[in-house]
Amino acid sequence: MVTSRITGVLALQGGYARHIDVLRKLGAEAREVRTRQDLADCDSLIIPGGESTVFTKFLTNADGTPNDLHSDLRSFALTRPVMGTCAGLILLSENCGDNRVAPLGVLPVTVARNGWGRQTESFIEKLDLNPEAGFKKNTAPFEAVFIRAPRILSIGPEVRILASVSGRNGAAEPVMVAWKNILGLTFHPELAVDDARIHEWFLSGF
Ligand code: GLN
Repeated sequence: MVTSRITGVLALQGGYARHIDVLRKLGAEAREVRTRQDLADCDSLIIPGGESTVFTKFLTNADGTPNDLHSDLRSFALTRPVMGTCAGLILLSENCGDNRVAPLGVLPVTVARNGWGRQTESFIEKLDLNPEAGFKKNTAPFEAVFIRAPRILSIGPEVRILASVSGRNGAAEPVMVAWKNILGLTFHPELAVDDARIHEWFLSGF
């Protein structure tokens, strides 16, 4: 059997199109994922930004219980490379403190939706990508776009911090974390202009 190398992008709603563009520019085979069958063909997956409450509508039954696609996404994320950005990170989290969202609960982090408050709902911040994670040393910072971004409030013991910003009281706050095969970002890497380092790194198996 030939093993395919297909990267899926969850395309129920939100910012999936830009992720597909970036992946294709990098020469990867990218596929929009809307059904369990679409997901079954993929080797890795990106869950894009959007609205986690709206994603939840597509991932739950009428009585609010998780549906089959939710359970397939959960199983997928337990074994294969997955990158969640912004609302995608909220969906991967163990806890987002909001009962209108049904997270997959696969990444040991607690997040707060819209955690930066109203005045600063959106901002751009230059990030130093941690060379210990495999990024090249002494390279230009990554211009990270935060749009109504979540904040990471706590992380499990084995979660690696790959990039941080300085938070309200000056303390460093993680904005990009990895654990096993899962990568979580509070920002939108697909909106960085001519800088696909994070997607490249994800495709290389990080
Ligand atoms: N605020 C959104 C949510 O709670 C996330 C925003 C985004 O993905 N850019 O789901």
